[in-house]
Amino acid sequence: MEKQELILLALNASPILDLMQRTLRAAGYEVATCQDRKGIDKSVQEAIPSLLIISQDFSGQDGISISKELLERFPTLPIILYAEQDTTGFAKSALRMGLSGYLYPPLKMDDIVEEVKRSLARARHLGDWLRREVKRTTSSLAEKAKISETERTKLEAIISNIQDGVIVMDDRNDILFVNRAILEIFNLNGGSISGKPLGEVILNSDLKSLISRAVDGPLKYHEINFDDGRVFNAQYTPIPKIGAAVTMQDITYIKEIDRLKSDFIHTLSHDLRSPLTAILGYTELIERTGPLNQNQQEFLHRLQGSVQHITSLVNDLLDLGRLEAGFDTRREAVQLEGVLKYALDMFDSQVKKKKIMLSTEIAQDLRPLRANPIRIRQMMDNLLGNAIKYTPEGGSVKVNVSMLDHQIILKIDDTGPGIPADEQNNIFEKFYRATNAPGGVEGSGLGLAIVKSIVTSHQGRVWVESTVGKGSSFIVILPAQE
Ligand code: ADP
Repeated sequence: MEKQELILLALNASPILDLMQRTLRAAGYEVATCQDRKGIDKSVQEAIPSLLIISQDFSGQDGISISKELLERFPTLPIILYAEQDTTGFAKSALRMGLSGYLYPPLKMDDIVEEVKRSLARARHLGDWLRREVKRTTSSLAEKAKISETERTKLEAIISNIQDGVIVMDDRNDILFVNRAILEIFNLNGGSISGKPLGEVILNSDLKSLISRAVDGPLKYHEINFDDGRVFNAQYTPIPKIGAAVTMQDITYIKEIDRLKSDFIHTLSHDLRSPLTAILGYTELIERTGPLNQNQQEFLHRLQGSVQHITSLVNDLLDLGRLEAGFDTRREAVQLEGVLKYALDMFDSQVKKKKIMLSTEIAQDLRPLRANPIRIRQMMDNLLGNAIKYTPEGGSVKVNVSMLDHQIILKIDDTGPGIPADEQNNIFEKFYRATNAPGGVEGSGLGLAIVKSIVTSHQGRVWVESTVGKGSSFIVILPAQE
Protein backbone atom coordinates (compact mmCIF):
# COMPACT_ATOMS: atom_id res chain seq x y z
CA MET A 1 0.00 0.00 0.00
CA GLU A 2 1.59 3.28 -1.15
CA LYS A 3 -0.19 5.57 1.25
CA GLN A 4 -2.05 4.58 4.42
CA GLU A 5 -5.77 4.97 4.00
CA LEU A 6 -7.82 6.20 6.95
CA ILE A 7 -10.79 4.14 8.07
CA LEU A 8 -13.22 5.86 10.43
CA LEU A 9 -15.04 3.61 12.88
CA ALA A 10 -18.37 4.79 14.27
CA LEU A 11 -19.03 1.84 16.57
CA ASN A 12 -20.08 1.73 20.22
CA ALA A 13 -17.34 0.61 22.63
CA SER A 14 -17.43 -3.18 22.36
CA PRO A 15 -15.25 -6.17 21.56
CA ILE A 16 -16.28 -5.69 17.92
CA LEU A 17 -14.71 -2.22 17.92
CA ASP A 18 -11.44 -3.64 19.26
CA LEU A 19 -11.52 -6.44 16.73
CA MET A 20 -12.04 -4.11 13.84
CA GLN A 21 -9.35 -1.71 15.01
CA ARG A 22 -6.78 -4.47 15.35
CA THR A 23 -7.70 -6.20 12.13
CA LEU A 24 -7.60 -3.06 10.02
CA ARG A 25 -4.36 -1.79 11.51
CA ALA A 26 -2.85 -5.20 10.89
CA ALA A 27 -4.00 -4.98 7.30
CA GLY A 28 -2.08 -1.67 6.96
CA TYR A 29 -4.85 0.87 7.37
CA GLU A 30 -4.82 3.88 9.62
CA VAL A 31 -7.83 3.77 11.95
CA ALA A 32 -9.71 6.53 13.78
CA THR A 33 -12.74 6.24 16.02
CA CYS A 34 -15.46 8.62 17.10
CA GLN A 35 -17.78 8.71 20.07
CA ASP A 36 -20.95 10.30 18.75
CA ARG A 37 -22.71 11.88 15.80
CA LYS A 38 -20.81 15.18 16.12
CA GLY A 39 -17.54 13.29 16.15
CA ILE A 40 -18.43 11.65 12.82
CA ASP A 41 -19.13 15.00 11.15
CA LYS A 42 -15.93 16.52 12.49
CA SER A 43 -13.75 13.60 11.39
CA VAL A 44 -15.36 13.31 7.97
CA GLN A 45 -14.80 16.99 7.31
CA GLU A 46 -11.36 17.37 8.79
CA ALA A 47 -9.59 14.02 8.52
CA ILE A 48 -11.26 13.05 5.25
CA PRO A 49 -11.41 9.27 5.82
CA SER A 50 -11.34 6.87 2.88
CA LEU A 51 -14.13 4.78 4.39
CA LEU A 52 -16.56 4.76 7.30
CA ILE A 53 -17.81 1.73 9.18
CA ILE A 54 -20.91 2.51 11.21
CA SER A 55 -22.98 0.28 13.44
CA GLN A 56 -26.70 -0.19 13.05
CA ASP A 57 -27.17 1.60 16.33
CA PHE A 58 -24.54 4.24 17.12
CA SER A 59 -24.54 6.20 20.40
CA GLY A 60 -28.33 5.91 20.60
CA GLN A 61 -28.99 6.89 16.95
CA ASP A 62 -30.02 4.96 13.89
CA GLY A 63 -26.90 4.15 11.80
CA ILE A 64 -28.88 4.02 8.56
CA SER A 65 -30.32 7.54 9.08
CA ILE A 66 -26.86 8.92 9.89
CA SER A 67 -25.49 7.26 6.75
CA LYS A 68 -28.29 8.72 4.68
CA GLU A 69 -27.52 12.25 5.84
CA LEU A 70 -23.79 11.74 5.32
CA LEU A 71 -24.30 10.44 1.78
CA GLU A 72 -26.35 13.47 0.90
CA ARG A 73 -23.39 15.68 1.81
CA PHE A 74 -20.53 13.36 0.78
CA PRO A 75 -21.95 11.16 -1.99
CA THR A 76 -18.60 9.50 -2.78
CA LEU A 77 -17.79 8.40 0.80
CA PRO A 78 -17.92 4.58 1.00
CA ILE A 79 -19.88 3.44 4.10
CA ILE A 80 -20.08 -0.10 5.47
CA LEU A 81 -22.90 -0.88 7.84
CA TYR A 82 -22.37 -3.23 10.75
CA ALA A 83 -25.56 -4.97 11.90
CA GLU A 84 -26.02 -7.03 15.04
CA GLN A 85 -28.00 -9.54 13.07
CA ASP A 86 -28.30 -10.50 9.44
CA THR A 87 -31.81 -9.84 8.21
CA THR A 88 -32.52 -9.55 4.48
CA GLY A 89 -34.85 -6.59 4.91
CA PHE A 90 -32.17 -4.65 6.72
CA ALA A 91 -29.47 -5.50 4.20
CA LYS A 92 -31.76 -4.50 1.37
CA SER A 93 -32.61 -1.10 2.82
CA ALA A 94 -28.89 -0.46 3.47
CA LEU A 95 -27.95 -1.26 -0.11
CA ARG A 96 -30.92 0.64 -1.53
CA MET A 97 -29.67 3.70 0.27
CA GLY A 98 -26.33 3.49 -1.49
CA LEU A 99 -24.14 2.02 1.26
CA SER A 100 -21.11 0.19 -0.09
CA GLY A 101 -21.12 -2.89 2.11
CA TYR A 102 -22.64 -4.80 4.93
CA LEU A 103 -21.05 -6.75 7.82
CA TYR A 104 -22.71 -8.91 10.44
CA PRO A 105 -21.68 -11.48 13.07
CA PRO A 106 -20.04 -13.86 13.29
CA LEU A 107 -17.18 -11.59 12.15
CA LYS A 108 -14.00 -13.08 10.82
CA MET A 109 -10.93 -10.93 10.34
CA ASP A 110 -10.68 -11.88 6.69
CA ASP A 111 -14.31 -10.91 6.09
CA ILE A 112 -13.68 -7.46 7.54
CA VAL A 113 -10.58 -6.83 5.43
CA GLU A 114 -12.24 -8.30 2.36
CA GLU A 115 -15.30 -6.07 2.66
CA VAL A 116 -13.20 -2.96 3.32
CA LYS A 117 -10.94 -3.68 0.32
CA ARG A 118 -13.90 -4.31 -1.94
CA SER A 119 -15.65 -1.10 -0.89
CA LEU A 120 -12.48 0.93 -1.28
CA ALA A 121 -11.82 -0.55 -4.71
CA ARG A 122 -15.33 0.31 -5.82
CA ALA A 123 -15.04 3.84 -4.44
CA ARG A 124 -11.72 4.26 -6.25
CA HIS A 125 -13.31 3.03 -9.40
CA LEU A 126 -16.15 5.47 -9.01
CA GLY A 127 -13.73 8.28 -8.22
CA ASP A 128 -11.66 7.52 -11.32
CA TRP A 129 -14.76 7.44 -13.46
CA LEU A 130 -15.99 10.68 -11.97
CA ARG A 131 -12.67 12.40 -12.56
CA ARG A 132 -12.59 11.13 -16.13
CA GLU A 133 -16.13 12.32 -16.74
CA VAL A 134 -15.44 15.73 -15.26
CA LYS A 135 -12.31 16.03 -17.40
CA ARG A 136 -14.19 14.93 -20.50
CA THR A 137 -17.10 17.30 -19.90
CA THR A 138 -14.79 20.16 -19.05
CA SER A 139 -12.71 19.65 -22.15
CA SER A 140 -15.80 19.31 -24.33
CA LEU A 141 -17.21 22.48 -22.78
CA ALA A 142 -13.92 24.24 -23.36
CA GLU A 143 -13.97 22.99 -26.93
CA LYS A 144 -17.52 24.26 -27.37
CA ALA A 145 -16.63 27.58 -25.82
CA LYS A 146 -13.66 27.77 -28.20
CA ILE A 147 -15.93 27.04 -31.17
CA SER A 148 -18.55 29.56 -30.15
CA GLU A 149 -15.83 32.14 -29.51
CA THR A 150 -14.48 31.54 -33.03
CA GLU A 151 -18.00 31.66 -34.43
CA ARG A 152 -18.64 34.88 -32.59
CA THR A 153 -15.45 36.48 -33.88
CA LYS A 154 -16.28 35.29 -37.38
CA LEU A 155 -19.79 36.68 -37.16
CA GLU A 156 -18.54 39.96 -35.75
CA ALA A 157 -16.02 40.25 -38.59
CA ILE A 158 -18.76 39.61 -41.15
CA ILE A 159 -21.18 42.12 -39.62
CA SER A 160 -18.40 44.67 -39.20
CA ASN A 161 -17.35 44.41 -42.81
CA ILE A 162 -20.62 44.14 -44.70
CA GLN A 163 -21.63 47.14 -46.71
CA ASP A 164 -25.07 47.41 -45.11
CA GLY A 165 -25.27 49.44 -41.93
CA VAL A 166 -26.20 47.50 -38.79
CA ILE A 167 -27.26 49.00 -35.45
CA VAL A 168 -28.17 46.74 -32.53
CA MET A 169 -29.80 48.34 -29.52
CA ASP A 170 -31.35 47.21 -26.26
CA ASP A 171 -35.01 47.59 -25.35
CA ARG A 172 -34.40 51.16 -24.15
CA ASN A 173 -32.87 52.06 -27.52
CA ASP A 174 -29.36 52.34 -26.06
CA ILE A 175 -26.71 51.33 -28.58
CA LEU A 176 -25.21 47.87 -28.10
CA PHE A 177 -23.33 47.62 -31.38
CA VAL A 178 -22.86 49.48 -34.64
CA ASN A 179 -20.80 48.27 -37.55
CA ARG A 180 -18.25 50.17 -39.61
CA ALA A 181 -20.77 51.02 -42.34
CA ILE A 182 -22.93 52.90 -39.79
CA LEU A 183 -19.94 54.93 -38.60
CA GLU A 184 -19.27 55.92 -42.21
CA ILE A 185 -22.92 56.60 -43.10
CA PHE A 186 -23.47 58.93 -40.14
CA ASN A 187 -19.89 60.16 -40.02
CA LEU A 188 -19.44 59.02 -36.41
CA ASN A 189 -16.44 58.38 -34.25
CA GLY A 190 -16.86 54.78 -33.05
CA GLY A 191 -14.91 55.23 -29.80
CA SER A 192 -17.54 56.01 -27.22
CA ILE A 193 -20.98 55.40 -28.63
CA SER A 194 -21.68 52.00 -27.15
CA GLY A 195 -24.19 52.22 -24.30
CA LYS A 196 -25.43 55.67 -25.29
CA PRO A 197 -29.05 56.37 -26.33
CA LEU A 198 -29.38 56.08 -30.11
CA GLY A 199 -31.34 59.35 -30.32
CA GLU A 200 -28.42 61.24 -28.76
CA VAL A 201 -25.75 59.78 -31.00
CA ILE A 202 -27.61 59.86 -34.33
CA LEU A 203 -29.66 62.97 -34.94
CA ASN A 204 -31.19 62.01 -38.30
CA SER A 205 -34.95 62.70 -38.13
CA ASP A 206 -35.93 59.90 -40.54
CA LEU A 207 -34.16 57.35 -38.35
CA LYS A 208 -35.85 58.77 -35.27
CA SER A 209 -39.26 58.54 -36.89
CA LEU A 210 -38.54 54.93 -38.00
CA ILE A 211 -37.81 53.96 -34.41
CA SER A 212 -40.73 55.82 -32.89
CA ARG A 213 -43.14 54.42 -35.49
CA ALA A 214 -41.77 50.87 -35.18
CA VAL A 215 -42.79 50.84 -31.52
CA ASP A 216 -46.45 51.15 -32.56
CA GLY A 217 -46.38 48.06 -34.71
CA PRO A 218 -44.44 46.18 -37.33
CA LEU A 219 -42.83 48.57 -39.76
CA LYS A 220 -40.53 47.02 -42.27
CA TYR A 221 -39.31 49.65 -44.68
CA HIS A 222 -38.46 53.24 -44.27
CA GLU A 223 -36.43 55.72 -46.29
CA ILE A 224 -33.69 57.63 -44.59
CA ASN A 225 -32.67 60.77 -46.45
CA PHE A 226 -29.53 62.84 -46.04
CA ASP A 227 -29.02 66.48 -46.98
CA ASP A 228 -26.25 65.52 -49.41
CA GLY A 229 -28.73 63.47 -51.49
CA ARG A 230 -27.94 59.98 -50.16
CA VAL A 231 -30.97 57.78 -49.56
CA PHE A 232 -31.02 54.57 -47.51
CA ASN A 233 -33.67 51.93 -47.09
CA ALA A 234 -33.92 50.94 -43.42
CA GLN A 235 -35.57 47.97 -41.75
CA TYR A 236 -36.38 47.67 -38.08
CA THR A 237 -36.31 44.15 -36.64
CA PRO A 238 -37.18 43.37 -33.00
CA ILE A 239 -34.77 40.84 -31.47
CA PRO A 240 -36.26 38.86 -28.55
CA LYS A 241 -34.36 39.21 -25.24
CA ILE A 242 -31.99 41.80 -26.74
CA GLY A 243 -33.96 44.72 -28.16
CA ALA A 244 -33.94 45.52 -31.86
CA ALA A 245 -31.74 45.91 -34.89
CA VAL A 246 -31.84 48.46 -37.68
CA THR A 247 -30.24 47.56 -40.98
CA MET A 248 -29.68 50.09 -43.75
CA GLN A 249 -28.92 49.69 -47.43
CA ASP A 250 -27.74 52.47 -49.71
CA ILE A 251 -30.39 52.96 -52.41
CA THR A 252 -29.10 56.30 -53.69
CA TYR A 253 -28.31 54.80 -57.08
CA ILE A 254 -31.79 53.25 -57.38
CA LYS A 255 -33.35 56.61 -56.54
CA GLU A 256 -31.08 58.25 -59.09
CA ILE A 257 -32.14 55.74 -61.78
CA ASP A 258 -35.77 56.36 -60.84
CA ARG A 259 -35.26 60.10 -61.13
CA LEU A 260 -33.54 59.73 -64.52
CA LYS A 261 -36.38 57.51 -65.69
CA SER A 262 -38.97 60.05 -64.58
CA ASP A 263 -37.00 62.88 -66.22
CA PHE A 264 -36.80 60.88 -69.42
CA ILE A 265 -40.53 60.09 -69.42
CA HIS A 266 -41.32 63.70 -68.65
CA THR A 267 -39.15 65.07 -71.47
CA LEU A 268 -40.47 62.49 -73.91
CA SER A 269 -44.10 63.18 -73.02
CA HIS A 270 -43.50 66.88 -73.33
CA ASP A 271 -41.90 66.52 -76.73
CA LEU A 272 -44.65 64.18 -77.92
CA ARG A 273 -47.46 66.53 -77.01
CA SER A 274 -46.88 69.10 -79.78
CA PRO A 275 -46.73 66.62 -82.69
CA LEU A 276 -49.77 64.83 -81.28
CA THR A 277 -51.73 68.07 -81.15
CA ALA A 278 -50.68 68.69 -84.75
CA ILE A 279 -51.77 65.20 -85.88
CA LEU A 280 -55.15 65.62 -84.18
CA GLY A 281 -55.58 69.07 -85.73
CA TYR A 282 -54.81 67.81 -89.24
CA THR A 283 -57.13 64.81 -88.92
CA GLU A 284 -59.90 67.28 -88.13
CA LEU A 285 -58.89 69.43 -91.12
CA ILE A 286 -58.98 66.50 -93.55
CA GLU A 287 -62.76 66.27 -93.16
CA ARG A 288 -63.11 69.86 -94.22
CA THR A 289 -61.02 69.54 -97.39
CA GLY A 290 -63.67 67.59 -99.30
CA PRO A 291 -66.06 64.67 -99.09
CA LEU A 292 -64.61 61.36 -97.82
CA ASN A 293 -65.96 57.94 -98.63
CA GLN A 294 -67.25 55.72 -95.84
CA ASN A 295 -64.01 53.76 -95.47
CA GLN A 296 -61.91 56.90 -95.33
CA GLN A 297 -64.23 58.34 -92.71
CA GLU A 298 -64.05 55.21 -90.55
CA PHE A 299 -60.26 55.08 -90.76
CA LEU A 300 -60.07 58.74 -89.87
CA HIS A 301 -62.21 58.20 -86.77
CA ARG A 302 -60.08 55.30 -85.66
CA LEU A 303 -57.00 57.44 -86.19
CA GLN A 304 -58.52 60.22 -84.08
CA GLY A 305 -59.48 57.75 -81.34
CA SER A 306 -55.92 56.41 -81.20
CA VAL A 307 -54.36 59.86 -81.18
CA GLN A 308 -56.69 60.93 -78.37
CA HIS A 309 -55.73 57.81 -76.44
CA ILE A 310 -52.00 58.59 -76.80
CA THR A 311 -52.64 62.21 -75.90
CA SER A 312 -54.40 61.29 -72.66
CA LEU A 313 -51.57 58.89 -71.84
CA VAL A 314 -49.02 61.63 -72.46
CA ASN A 315 -51.06 64.03 -70.34
CA ASP A 316 -51.19 61.50 -67.51
CA LEU A 317 -47.44 61.06 -67.69
CA LEU A 318 -46.88 64.80 -67.61
CA ASP A 319 -49.23 65.07 -64.66
CA LEU A 320 -47.39 62.39 -62.78
CA GLY A 321 -44.10 64.12 -63.51
CA ARG A 322 -45.44 67.37 -62.09
CA LEU A 323 -46.90 65.66 -59.03
CA GLU A 324 -43.71 63.71 -58.33
CA ALA A 325 -41.61 66.83 -58.71
CA GLY A 326 -43.69 68.46 -55.98
CA PHE A 327 -45.03 71.28 -58.18
CA ASP A 328 -48.55 70.80 -56.87
CA THR A 329 -48.73 73.44 -54.16
CA ARG A 330 -52.14 75.01 -54.74
CA ARG A 331 -54.27 74.63 -51.60
CA GLU A 332 -57.79 75.88 -50.84
CA ALA A 333 -60.89 74.70 -49.03
CA VAL A 334 -62.46 71.90 -51.06
CA GLN A 335 -65.84 70.30 -50.35
CA LEU A 336 -65.45 66.63 -51.24
CA GLU A 337 -69.22 66.30 -51.55
CA GLY A 338 -69.30 68.80 -54.43
CA VAL A 339 -66.38 67.16 -56.21
CA LEU A 340 -68.10 63.79 -55.89
CA LYS A 341 -71.32 65.15 -57.34
CA TYR A 342 -69.62 66.49 -60.49
CA ALA A 343 -67.67 63.28 -60.95
CA LEU A 344 -70.84 61.20 -60.63
CA ASP A 345 -72.56 63.37 -63.22
CA MET A 346 -69.73 62.71 -65.63
CA PHE A 347 -70.04 58.92 -65.23
CA ASP A 348 -73.85 58.96 -65.35
CA SER A 349 -74.20 57.68 -68.90
CA GLN A 350 -71.70 54.83 -68.31
CA VAL A 351 -73.47 53.83 -65.10
CA LYS A 352 -76.82 53.71 -66.89
CA LYS A 353 -75.39 51.86 -69.88
CA LYS A 354 -73.92 49.13 -67.67
CA LYS A 355 -77.01 49.06 -65.39
CA ILE A 356 -74.80 49.56 -62.36
CA MET A 357 -76.52 50.14 -59.01
CA LEU A 358 -74.78 53.22 -57.70
CA SER A 359 -75.32 54.42 -54.14
CA THR A 360 -73.73 57.17 -52.11
CA GLU A 361 -73.61 57.80 -48.40
CA ILE A 362 -72.17 61.07 -47.21
CA ALA A 363 -71.72 62.10 -43.59
CA GLN A 364 -73.56 65.21 -42.42
CA ASP A 365 -70.68 66.71 -40.50
CA LEU A 366 -68.23 66.60 -43.40
CA ARG A 367 -65.53 69.25 -43.10
CA PRO A 368 -63.73 70.69 -46.13
CA LEU A 369 -60.33 69.50 -47.25
CA ARG A 370 -57.39 71.81 -47.69
CA ALA A 371 -56.43 70.72 -51.16
CA ASN A 372 -56.00 71.42 -54.82
CA PRO A 373 -59.56 70.99 -56.22
CA ILE A 374 -58.32 69.92 -59.65
CA ARG A 375 -56.20 67.14 -58.17
CA ILE A 376 -58.98 65.96 -55.87
CA ARG A 377 -61.33 65.76 -58.85
CA GLN A 378 -58.65 63.85 -60.78
CA MET A 379 -58.30 61.41 -57.86
CA MET A 380 -62.07 60.96 -57.65
CA ASP A 381 -62.40 60.47 -61.44
CA ASN A 382 -59.72 57.79 -61.45
CA LEU A 383 -61.14 55.83 -58.50
CA LEU A 384 -64.77 56.12 -59.55
CA GLY A 385 -63.84 55.52 -63.18
CA ASN A 386 -62.02 52.29 -62.25
CA ALA A 387 -64.90 51.06 -60.05
CA ILE A 388 -67.37 51.60 -62.91
CA LYS A 389 -64.96 50.36 -65.58
CA TYR A 390 -64.09 47.10 -63.80
CA THR A 391 -67.58 46.31 -62.46
CA PRO A 392 -69.48 44.06 -64.85
CA GLU A 393 -72.99 44.86 -66.07
CA GLY A 394 -75.62 44.75 -63.33
CA GLY A 395 -73.04 45.06 -60.57
CA SER A 396 -72.99 47.70 -57.85
CA VAL A 397 -70.74 50.57 -56.77
CA LYS A 398 -71.02 52.19 -53.34
CA VAL A 399 -69.43 55.49 -52.38
CA ASN A 400 -69.14 56.35 -48.71
CA VAL A 401 -67.66 59.55 -47.29
CA SER A 402 -67.28 59.87 -43.54
CA MET A 403 -65.37 61.79 -40.88
CA LEU A 404 -63.14 60.18 -38.27
CA ASP A 405 -61.44 62.58 -35.84
CA HIS A 406 -59.89 65.17 -38.11
CA GLN A 407 -59.78 62.96 -41.15
CA ILE A 408 -62.05 62.45 -44.11
CA ILE A 409 -62.48 58.87 -45.24
CA LEU A 410 -63.55 58.08 -48.78
CA LYS A 411 -64.46 54.47 -49.50
CA ILE A 412 -65.45 53.19 -52.93
CA ASP A 413 -66.71 49.59 -53.04
CA ASP A 414 -67.38 47.69 -56.22
CA THR A 415 -68.39 44.20 -57.32
CA GLY A 416 -65.67 43.93 -59.97
CA PRO A 417 -63.17 41.08 -60.48
CA GLY A 418 -61.12 41.95 -57.37
CA ILE A 419 -57.32 42.12 -57.24
CA PRO A 420 -55.05 39.20 -56.26
CA ALA A 421 -53.59 39.73 -52.76
CA ASP A 422 -49.96 39.63 -53.90
CA GLU A 423 -50.60 42.36 -56.48
CA GLN A 424 -52.50 44.79 -54.30
CA ASN A 425 -49.39 46.85 -53.54
CA ASN A 426 -48.18 46.84 -57.14
CA ILE A 427 -51.30 48.35 -58.68
CA PHE A 428 -50.26 51.78 -57.38
CA GLU A 429 -47.07 51.60 -59.43
CA LYS A 430 -46.77 53.21 -62.84
CA PHE A 431 -47.93 51.03 -65.76
CA TYR A 432 -48.88 48.10 -63.54
CA ARG A 433 -52.03 46.25 -64.53
CA ALA A 434 -53.24 43.30 -62.46
CA THR A 435 -52.87 39.88 -64.06
CA ASN A 436 -56.63 39.31 -63.75
CA ALA A 437 -57.63 42.63 -65.37
CA PRO A 438 -60.45 41.69 -67.80
CA GLY A 439 -59.17 41.54 -71.38
CA GLY A 440 -61.73 43.92 -72.84
CA VAL A 441 -61.11 46.68 -70.29
CA GLU A 442 -58.62 49.21 -71.59
CA GLY A 443 -56.19 51.09 -69.44
CA SER A 444 -52.68 52.38 -69.19
CA GLY A 445 -51.85 51.47 -65.59
CA LEU A 446 -51.25 55.12 -64.71
CA GLY A 447 -54.53 56.05 -62.99
CA LEU A 448 -53.72 54.64 -59.55
CA ALA A 449 -50.14 55.93 -59.67
CA ILE A 450 -51.63 59.40 -60.15
CA VAL A 451 -54.12 58.79 -57.30
CA LYS A 452 -51.30 57.73 -55.00
CA SER A 453 -49.19 60.79 -55.84
CA ILE A 454 -52.12 63.12 -55.29
CA VAL A 455 -53.07 61.53 -51.97
CA THR A 456 -49.46 61.52 -50.75
CA SER A 457 -48.96 65.16 -51.71
CA HIS A 458 -52.03 65.96 -49.59
CA GLN A 459 -50.58 64.06 -46.58
CA GLY A 460 -53.12 61.27 -46.95
CA ARG A 461 -53.07 57.52 -47.42
CA VAL A 462 -54.68 55.23 -49.98
CA TRP A 463 -54.96 51.46 -50.07
CA VAL A 464 -57.10 48.68 -51.42
CA GLU A 465 -58.93 45.83 -49.73
CA SER A 466 -60.04 43.25 -52.22
CA THR A 467 -61.07 39.63 -52.74
CA VAL A 468 -60.76 38.04 -56.14
CA GLY A 469 -64.19 37.21 -57.53
CA LYS A 470 -66.01 39.40 -55.01
CA GLY A 471 -64.92 42.98 -55.53
CA SER A 472 -62.65 45.73 -54.28
CA SER A 473 -62.76 48.63 -51.83
CA PHE A 474 -60.45 51.58 -52.37
CA ILE A 475 -60.00 53.64 -49.22
CA VAL A 476 -58.55 57.14 -49.09
CA ILE A 477 -57.86 59.05 -45.88
CA LEU A 478 -57.21 62.77 -46.16
CA PRO A 479 -56.73 65.28 -43.35
CA ALA A 480 -59.59 67.77 -43.04
CA GLN A 481 -58.94 71.48 -42.98
CA GLU A 482 -58.20 72.77 -39.47
P1 ADP B 1 -55.77 51.11 -65.54
O1 ADP B 1 -55.65 52.21 -66.48
O2 ADP B 1 -55.20 49.84 -66.04
O3 ADP B 1 -57.12 50.97 -64.96
P2 ADP B 1 -54.94 51.91 -62.90
O4 ADP B 1 -53.63 52.46 -62.45
O5 ADP B 1 -56.12 52.78 -62.69
O6 ADP B 1 -54.75 51.51 -64.39
O7 ADP B 1 -55.15 50.55 -62.18
C1 ADP B 1 -54.10 49.61 -62.16
C2 ADP B 1 -54.65 48.20 -62.17
O8 ADP B 1 -55.33 47.94 -60.95
C3 ADP B 1 -55.67 47.96 -63.24
O9 ADP B 1 -55.06 47.60 -64.44
C4 ADP B 1 -56.49 46.82 -62.66
O10 ADP B 1 -55.86 45.61 -62.91
C5 ADP B 1 -56.46 47.10 -61.18
N1 ADP B 1 -57.65 47.81 -60.71
C6 ADP B 1 -57.77 49.13 -60.44
N2 ADP B 1 -59.00 49.40 -59.98
C7 ADP B 1 -59.68 48.24 -59.93
C8 ADP B 1 -61.00 47.86 -59.53
N3 ADP B 1 -61.88 48.76 -59.07
N4 ADP B 1 -61.34 46.56 -59.62
C9 ADP B 1 -60.45 45.65 -60.06
N5 ADP B 1 -59.20 45.94 -60.46
C10 ADP B 1 -58.81 47.22 -60.40
